[in-house]
Amino acid sequence: MSVNVNRSVSDQFYRYKMPRLIAKVEGKGNGIKTVIVNMVDVAKALNRPPTYPTKFFGCELGAQTQFDTKNDRYIVNGSHEANKLQDMLDGFIRKFVLCTECDNPETDLHVNPKKQTIGTSCKACGNRGMLDTRHKLCTFILKNPPESNDSGSASVKKEKEKKNRKKDKENGSGSGEAGNHDNFDAPQAVDGDDDDEDWAEETTEEAQRRRMEEISDHAKNLTLSEDLEKPLEERVNLFYNFVKQKKESGTIDGADKEILAEAERLDVKAMGPLILSELLFNENIRDQIKKYKRHFLRFCHNNKKAQKYLMGGFECVVKLHQVQLLPRVPIILKDLYDADLLEEDVIFAWAEKVREETFNQLHLRIGLKISSASPHTVISSVSFSADF
Ligand SMILES: [Zn+2]
Repeated sequence: MSVNVNRSVSDQFYRYKMPRLIAKVEGKGNGIKTVIVNMVDVAKALNRPPTYPTKFFGCELGAQTQFDTKNDRYIVNGSHEANKLQDMLDGFIRKFVLCTECDNPETDLHVNPKKQTIGTSCKACGNRGMLDTRHKLCTFILKNPPESNDSGSASVKKEKEKKNRKKDKENGSGSGEAGNHDNFDAPQAVDGDDDDEDWAEETTEEAQRRRMEEISDHAKNLTLSEDLEKPLEERVNLFYNFVKQKKESGTIDGADKEILAEAERLDVKAMGPLILSELLFNENIRDQIKKYKRHFLRFCHNNKKAQKYLMGGFECVVKLHQVQLLPRVPIILKDLYDADLLEEDVIFAWAEKVREETFNQLHLRIGLKISSASPHTVISSVSFSADF
Protein backbone atom coordinates (compact mmCIF):
# COMPACT_ATOMS: atom_id res chain seq x y z
CA MET A 1 0.00 0.00 0.00
CA SER A 2 1.37 3.40 -0.88
CA VAL A 3 0.88 6.91 0.46
CA ASN A 4 1.57 10.31 -1.05
CA VAL A 5 5.12 11.47 -0.45
CA ASN A 6 3.67 14.79 0.61
CA ARG A 7 0.88 13.57 2.86
CA SER A 8 -0.65 17.03 3.09
CA VAL A 9 -1.68 16.48 -0.53
CA SER A 10 -4.86 14.38 -0.59
CA ASP A 11 -5.07 14.01 -4.37
CA GLN A 12 -5.15 10.28 -5.14
CA PHE A 13 -3.64 10.99 -8.55
CA TYR A 14 -0.61 12.71 -7.01
CA ARG A 15 2.24 11.07 -8.85
CA TYR A 16 4.77 10.90 -6.03
CA LYS A 17 4.04 7.85 -3.92
CA MET A 18 6.03 5.92 -1.35
CA PRO A 19 5.32 2.60 0.32
CA ARG A 20 3.77 2.81 3.76
CA LEU A 21 6.52 2.30 6.30
CA ILE A 22 6.73 -1.18 7.84
CA ALA A 23 8.31 -1.58 11.28
CA LYS A 24 9.08 -4.77 13.15
CA VAL A 25 10.09 -4.87 16.79
CA GLU A 26 12.76 -7.43 17.62
CA GLY A 27 14.43 -8.56 20.82
CA LYS A 28 13.48 -7.55 24.33
CA GLY A 29 14.71 -5.78 27.41
CA ASN A 30 17.70 -3.56 26.78
CA GLY A 31 18.25 -5.13 23.37
CA ILE A 32 14.81 -4.25 22.01
CA LYS A 33 14.99 -2.62 18.59
CA THR A 34 12.79 -1.64 15.68
CA VAL A 35 13.71 -2.83 12.20
CA ILE A 36 12.33 -0.66 9.41
CA VAL A 37 11.73 -3.51 7.05
CA ASN A 38 11.17 -1.56 3.83
CA MET A 39 13.46 1.40 4.45
CA VAL A 40 15.26 0.84 1.14
CA ASP A 41 12.03 1.16 -0.83
CA VAL A 42 10.78 4.13 1.14
CA ALA A 43 14.11 5.92 0.74
CA LYS A 44 14.19 5.11 -2.95
CA ALA A 45 10.82 6.84 -3.39
CA LEU A 46 12.30 9.88 -1.67
CA ASN A 47 15.53 9.78 -3.68
CA ARG A 48 17.60 9.74 -0.50
CA PRO A 49 19.94 7.10 0.92
CA PRO A 50 18.07 4.83 3.39
CA THR A 51 20.51 5.86 6.09
CA TYR A 52 19.17 9.44 6.09
CA PRO A 53 15.59 8.82 7.28
CA THR A 54 16.81 6.10 9.67
CA LYS A 55 19.34 8.44 11.19
CA PHE A 56 16.66 11.15 11.27
CA PHE A 57 14.48 8.88 13.42
CA GLY A 58 17.45 8.32 15.69
CA CYS A 59 18.01 12.06 16.06
CA GLU A 60 14.35 12.78 16.74
CA LEU A 61 13.91 9.92 19.19
CA GLY A 62 17.29 10.31 20.85
CA ALA A 63 17.85 6.66 19.98
CA GLN A 64 20.83 4.89 18.52
CA THR A 65 20.60 3.57 15.00
CA GLN A 66 22.22 0.65 13.22
CA PHE A 67 22.67 0.05 9.53
CA ASP A 68 23.51 -3.22 7.87
CA THR A 69 23.46 -2.26 4.22
CA LYS A 70 24.44 -5.73 3.03
CA ASN A 71 21.22 -7.20 4.37
CA ASP A 72 19.15 -4.02 3.97
CA ARG A 73 18.54 -3.81 7.69
CA TYR A 74 17.89 -0.32 9.04
CA ILE A 75 17.35 -0.28 12.75
CA VAL A 76 16.34 2.20 15.44
CA ASN A 77 17.00 1.05 18.98
CA GLY A 78 13.97 0.81 21.24
CA SER A 79 10.40 -0.11 20.43
CA HIS A 80 8.63 2.25 18.03
CA GLU A 81 5.26 1.98 16.30
CA ALA A 82 5.12 2.17 12.51
CA ASN A 83 2.46 4.91 12.62
CA LYS A 84 4.59 7.07 14.85
CA LEU A 85 7.60 6.63 12.56
CA GLN A 86 5.42 7.35 9.52
CA ASP A 87 4.37 10.68 11.08
CA MET A 88 7.96 11.39 11.92
CA LEU A 89 8.92 10.67 8.34
CA ASP A 90 6.69 13.58 7.28
CA GLY A 91 9.06 15.81 9.22
CA PHE A 92 12.05 14.38 7.37
CA ILE A 93 10.32 14.86 4.03
CA ARG A 94 9.37 18.44 4.87
CA LYS A 95 12.90 19.33 5.97
CA PHE A 96 15.07 17.25 3.66
CA VAL A 97 13.05 16.34 0.56
CA LEU A 98 10.34 18.78 -0.50
CA CYS A 99 11.30 21.89 -2.45
CA THR A 100 10.80 24.96 -0.30
CA GLU A 101 9.51 26.85 -3.30
CA CYS A 102 7.11 24.44 -5.01
CA ASP A 103 6.79 21.43 -2.65
CA ASN A 104 7.94 19.05 -5.34
CA PRO A 105 9.92 16.10 -3.97
CA GLU A 106 12.23 15.77 -6.98
CA THR A 107 15.12 17.48 -5.28
CA ASP A 108 18.82 16.80 -4.87
CA LEU A 109 21.17 17.59 -2.03
CA HIS A 110 24.62 18.96 -2.78
CA VAL A 111 27.16 18.65 -0.04
CA ASN A 112 30.06 21.03 -0.01
CA PRO A 113 32.53 19.44 2.41
CA LYS A 114 34.87 22.44 2.34
CA LYS A 115 32.24 24.99 3.24
CA GLN A 116 30.27 22.51 5.35
CA THR A 117 27.05 23.45 3.59
CA ILE A 118 24.24 21.42 2.08
CA GLY A 119 22.66 22.94 -0.98
CA THR A 120 19.33 21.90 -2.46
CA SER A 121 18.11 21.96 -6.03
CA CYS A 122 14.66 21.28 -7.42
CA LYS A 123 14.18 19.57 -10.75
CA ALA A 124 10.63 20.84 -11.05
CA CYS A 125 11.05 24.59 -10.62
CA GLY A 126 14.82 25.00 -10.67
CA ASN A 127 14.85 26.53 -7.23
CA ARG A 128 18.17 26.37 -5.41
CA GLY A 129 18.60 26.83 -1.70
CA MET A 130 20.51 25.88 1.39
CA LEU A 131 19.51 23.51 4.17
CA ASP A 132 19.43 24.90 7.65
CA THR A 133 22.28 22.81 9.01
CA ARG A 134 21.25 23.12 12.64
CA HIS A 135 19.39 19.81 12.56
CA LYS A 136 21.58 17.00 13.88
CA LEU A 137 21.02 14.96 10.74
CA CYS A 138 23.01 17.55 8.79
CA THR A 139 26.20 16.53 10.58
CA PHE A 140 25.56 13.05 9.30
CA ILE A 141 24.75 14.19 5.75
CA LEU A 142 27.90 16.31 5.64
CA LYS A 143 29.93 13.25 6.55
CA ASN A 144 28.00 10.95 4.25
CA PRO A 145 27.05 12.91 1.15
CA PRO A 146 24.51 11.36 -1.20
CA GLU A 147 25.89 9.62 -4.27
CA SER A 148 25.58 11.16 -7.73
CA ASN A 149 26.84 14.28 -6.11
CA ASP A 150 29.22 16.87 -7.47
CA SER A 151 32.81 15.81 -8.09
CA GLY A 152 33.97 17.49 -4.91
CA SER A 153 32.35 15.05 -2.55
CA ALA A 154 33.04 12.13 -4.86
CA SER A 155 36.73 12.71 -4.47
CA VAL A 156 36.29 12.87 -0.73
CA LYS A 157 34.60 9.49 -0.90
CA LYS A 158 37.44 8.05 -2.97
CA GLU A 159 39.81 9.29 -0.35
CA LYS A 160 37.74 7.54 2.29
CA GLU A 161 37.75 4.32 0.33
CA LYS A 162 41.50 4.45 0.04
CA LYS A 163 41.83 5.00 3.74
CA ASN A 164 39.42 2.18 4.40
CA ARG A 165 41.34 -0.27 2.27
CA LYS A 166 44.50 0.69 4.06
CA LYS A 167 42.84 0.15 7.39
CA ASP A 168 41.55 -3.25 6.32
CA LYS A 169 45.03 -4.25 5.32
CA GLU A 170 46.38 -3.19 8.66
CA ASN A 171 43.70 -5.18 10.41
CA GLY A 172 44.50 -8.16 8.24
CA SER A 173 40.91 -8.48 7.12
CA GLY A 174 39.58 -8.51 3.58
CA SER A 175 37.50 -5.56 2.49
CA GLY A 176 34.06 -5.64 4.01
CA GLU A 177 34.55 -8.70 6.20
CA ALA A 178 34.89 -8.22 9.92
CA GLY A 179 33.20 -5.38 11.70
CA ASN A 180 30.94 -4.28 8.92
CA HIS A 181 27.82 -6.19 9.85
CA ASP A 182 25.43 -4.36 12.06
CA ASN A 183 27.55 -1.30 12.12
CA PHE A 184 26.86 0.27 15.41
CA ASP A 185 26.31 3.94 15.02
CA ALA A 186 26.17 5.70 18.34
CA PRO A 187 25.07 9.32 17.99
CA GLN A 188 27.85 10.58 20.22
CA ALA A 189 30.38 8.85 17.98
CA VAL A 190 29.21 10.64 14.86
CA ASP A 191 32.02 13.13 15.07
CA GLY A 192 34.67 10.49 15.67
CA ASP A 193 37.04 9.52 12.89
CA ASP A 194 36.51 5.79 13.39
CA ASP A 195 32.88 6.14 12.64
CA ASP A 196 33.81 7.96 9.51
CA GLU A 197 36.01 5.11 8.33
CA ASP A 198 33.37 2.48 8.82
CA TRP A 199 31.06 4.45 6.64
CA ALA A 200 33.19 4.28 3.54
CA GLU A 201 32.29 0.65 2.92
CA GLU A 202 28.61 1.29 3.29
CA THR A 203 28.52 4.27 1.01
CA THR A 204 30.31 2.27 -1.65
CA GLU A 205 27.59 -0.37 -1.54
CA GLU A 206 25.05 2.37 -1.58
CA ALA A 207 26.78 3.70 -4.68
CA GLN A 208 26.47 0.38 -6.45
CA ARG A 209 22.82 0.06 -5.59
CA ARG A 210 22.13 3.56 -6.84
CA ARG A 211 23.93 2.93 -10.08
CA MET A 212 21.74 -0.13 -10.63
CA GLU A 213 18.70 2.02 -9.94
CA GLU A 214 19.87 4.62 -12.39
CA ILE A 215 20.27 2.00 -15.07
CA SER A 216 16.76 0.69 -14.52
CA ASP A 217 15.46 4.27 -14.58
CA HIS A 218 17.06 4.71 -17.97
CA ALA A 219 15.38 1.55 -19.16
CA LYS A 220 12.05 2.97 -18.04
CA ASN A 221 12.72 6.12 -20.02
CA LEU A 222 13.45 4.09 -23.12
CA THR A 223 9.93 2.75 -23.18
CA LEU A 224 8.64 6.30 -23.06
CA SER A 225 10.90 7.58 -25.79
CA GLU A 226 8.55 6.45 -28.55
CA ASP A 227 6.48 9.55 -27.93
CA LEU A 228 9.61 11.69 -28.08
CA GLU A 229 10.29 10.56 -31.63
CA LYS A 230 7.00 12.01 -32.78
CA PRO A 231 7.03 15.41 -34.49
CA LEU A 232 6.57 18.50 -32.34
CA GLU A 233 3.04 19.12 -33.51
CA GLU A 234 1.95 15.67 -32.44
CA ARG A 235 3.63 16.01 -29.07
CA VAL A 236 1.95 19.36 -28.50
CA ASN A 237 -1.37 17.72 -29.35
CA LEU A 238 -0.67 14.92 -26.89
CA PHE A 239 0.03 17.50 -24.22
CA TYR A 240 -3.08 19.48 -25.16
CA ASN A 241 -5.24 16.37 -24.82
CA PHE A 242 -3.62 15.50 -21.51
CA VAL A 243 -4.47 18.89 -20.00
CA LYS A 244 -7.92 18.87 -21.59
CA GLN A 245 -8.67 15.49 -20.04
CA LYS A 246 -7.59 16.82 -16.61
CA LYS A 247 -9.87 19.79 -17.05
CA GLU A 248 -12.86 17.78 -18.20
CA SER A 249 -12.51 15.20 -15.44
CA GLY A 250 -12.42 17.96 -12.84
CA THR A 251 -9.01 16.93 -11.53
CA ILE A 252 -7.01 19.82 -12.91
CA ASP A 253 -6.76 21.83 -9.68
CA GLY A 254 -4.26 19.49 -8.04
CA ALA A 255 -2.68 18.27 -11.25
CA ASP A 256 -0.10 21.02 -11.72
CA LYS A 257 2.86 18.76 -11.04
CA GLU A 258 1.54 16.02 -13.29
CA ILE A 259 0.98 18.51 -16.09
CA LEU A 260 4.54 19.75 -15.84
CA ALA A 261 5.83 16.18 -15.79
CA GLU A 262 3.87 15.35 -18.93
CA ALA A 263 5.20 18.45 -20.71
CA GLU A 264 8.74 17.48 -19.72
CA ARG A 265 8.19 13.91 -20.85
CA LEU A 266 7.05 15.18 -24.26
CA ASP A 267 9.78 17.82 -24.32
CA VAL A 268 7.32 20.68 -24.82
CA LYS A 269 7.90 22.47 -21.53
CA ALA A 270 8.49 25.96 -22.93
CA MET A 271 5.27 25.81 -24.92
CA GLY A 272 3.27 24.65 -21.91
CA PRO A 273 1.87 28.09 -21.03
CA LEU A 274 0.55 28.54 -24.57
CA ILE A 275 -1.54 25.39 -24.32
CA LEU A 276 -2.56 26.13 -20.73
CA SER A 277 -3.70 29.61 -21.79
CA GLU A 278 -5.84 28.17 -24.52
CA LEU A 279 -7.50 25.69 -22.19
CA LEU A 280 -7.70 27.63 -18.93
CA PHE A 281 -8.19 31.28 -19.89
CA ASN A 282 -11.24 33.05 -21.27
CA GLU A 283 -12.84 36.43 -20.62
CA ASN A 284 -12.56 35.74 -16.88
CA ILE A 285 -8.80 35.60 -17.15
CA ARG A 286 -8.18 37.74 -14.08
CA ASP A 287 -9.77 35.16 -11.76
CA GLN A 288 -8.21 32.35 -13.73
CA ILE A 289 -4.71 33.76 -13.27
CA LYS A 290 -5.25 33.53 -9.53
CA LYS A 291 -6.80 30.08 -9.74
CA TYR A 292 -4.15 28.52 -11.95
CA LYS A 293 -1.15 30.49 -10.79
CA ARG A 294 0.65 27.35 -9.58
CA HIS A 295 0.10 25.57 -12.88
CA PHE A 296 1.68 28.40 -14.84
CA LEU A 297 4.38 29.08 -12.30
CA ARG A 298 5.75 25.59 -12.77
CA PHE A 299 6.51 26.50 -16.37
CA CYS A 300 7.24 30.21 -16.16
CA HIS A 301 9.44 30.38 -13.05
CA ASN A 302 12.89 31.46 -14.23
CA ASN A 303 12.00 30.44 -17.78
CA LYS A 304 11.85 33.36 -20.20
CA LYS A 305 11.02 31.16 -23.14
CA ALA A 306 7.96 29.83 -21.33
CA GLN A 307 7.03 33.40 -20.39
CA LYS A 308 7.17 34.40 -24.04
CA TYR A 309 4.82 31.57 -24.88
CA LEU A 310 2.55 32.78 -22.12
CA MET A 311 2.51 36.20 -23.80
CA GLY A 312 1.62 34.44 -27.03
CA GLY A 313 -1.21 32.60 -25.33
CA PHE A 314 -2.36 35.80 -23.72
CA GLU A 315 -2.49 37.52 -27.13
CA CYS A 316 -4.69 34.75 -28.47
CA VAL A 317 -7.07 34.98 -25.52
CA VAL A 318 -7.33 38.75 -26.00
CA LYS A 319 -8.01 38.34 -29.71
CA LEU A 320 -10.75 35.83 -28.95
CA HIS A 321 -12.45 38.05 -26.39
CA GLN A 322 -11.53 41.48 -27.74
CA VAL A 323 -14.61 43.30 -26.53
CA GLN A 324 -14.20 42.28 -22.91
CA LEU A 325 -10.43 42.06 -22.70
CA LEU A 326 -8.91 44.72 -24.92
CA PRO A 327 -9.64 47.54 -22.48
CA ARG A 328 -8.26 45.46 -19.61
CA VAL A 329 -4.97 44.39 -21.18
CA PRO A 330 -2.84 46.61 -18.91
CA ILE A 331 -4.40 45.42 -15.69
CA ILE A 332 -4.17 41.77 -16.81
CA LEU A 333 -0.51 42.26 -17.63
CA LYS A 334 -0.07 43.63 -14.17
CA ASP A 335 -1.88 40.58 -12.74
CA LEU A 336 0.50 38.30 -14.62
CA TYR A 337 3.43 40.34 -13.37
CA ASP A 338 2.19 40.35 -9.76
CA ALA A 339 1.67 36.59 -9.91
CA ASP A 340 5.37 36.29 -10.89
CA LEU A 341 4.38 34.65 -14.15
CA LEU A 342 6.04 37.36 -16.25
CA GLU A 343 9.27 39.19 -15.69
CA GLU A 344 9.63 42.84 -16.54
CA ASP A 345 11.94 42.42 -19.48
CA VAL A 346 9.63 39.89 -21.11
CA ILE A 347 6.74 42.34 -20.92
CA PHE A 348 9.06 45.03 -22.18
CA ALA A 349 10.17 42.96 -25.15
CA TRP A 350 6.57 42.08 -25.91
CA ALA A 351 5.53 45.72 -25.80
CA GLU A 352 8.30 46.52 -28.27
CA LYS A 353 7.07 43.80 -30.55
CA VAL A 354 3.48 44.95 -30.29
CA ARG A 355 4.55 48.45 -31.18
CA GLU A 356 6.24 47.23 -34.33
CA GLU A 357 3.58 44.78 -35.42
CA THR A 358 0.16 45.33 -36.82
CA PHE A 359 -1.44 44.86 -33.45
CA ASN A 360 -1.87 48.62 -33.58
CA GLN A 361 -5.31 48.78 -32.18
CA LEU A 362 -4.20 47.00 -29.03
CA HIS A 363 -1.14 49.17 -28.82
CA LEU A 364 -3.18 52.35 -29.01
CA ARG A 365 -5.54 51.17 -26.35
CA ILE A 366 -2.80 50.19 -23.95
CA GLY A 367 -1.14 53.51 -24.47
CA LEU A 368 2.27 52.21 -23.56
CA LYS A 369 4.59 55.14 -23.50
CA ILE A 370 8.01 53.65 -23.72
CA SER A 371 10.01 56.81 -23.81
CA SER A 372 12.82 55.69 -21.58
CA ALA A 373 14.81 52.51 -21.91
CA SER A 374 13.95 51.31 -18.42
CA PRO A 375 11.69 48.27 -18.20
CA HIS A 376 10.09 49.85 -15.14
CA THR A 377 8.51 52.42 -17.43
CA VAL A 378 6.41 49.72 -18.98
CA ILE A 379 5.21 48.42 -15.65
CA SER A 380 4.47 51.85 -14.29
CA SER A 381 2.71 53.02 -17.43
CA VAL A 382 0.80 49.75 -17.53
CA SER A 383 -0.40 50.19 -14.00
CA PHE A 384 -0.99 53.87 -14.58
CA SER A 385 -3.19 53.35 -17.60
CA ALA A 386 -4.93 50.43 -15.98
CA ASP A 387 -7.67 52.67 -14.68
CA PHE A 388 -9.62 53.13 -17.89
ZN1 LIG B 1 10.71 23.45 -6.69
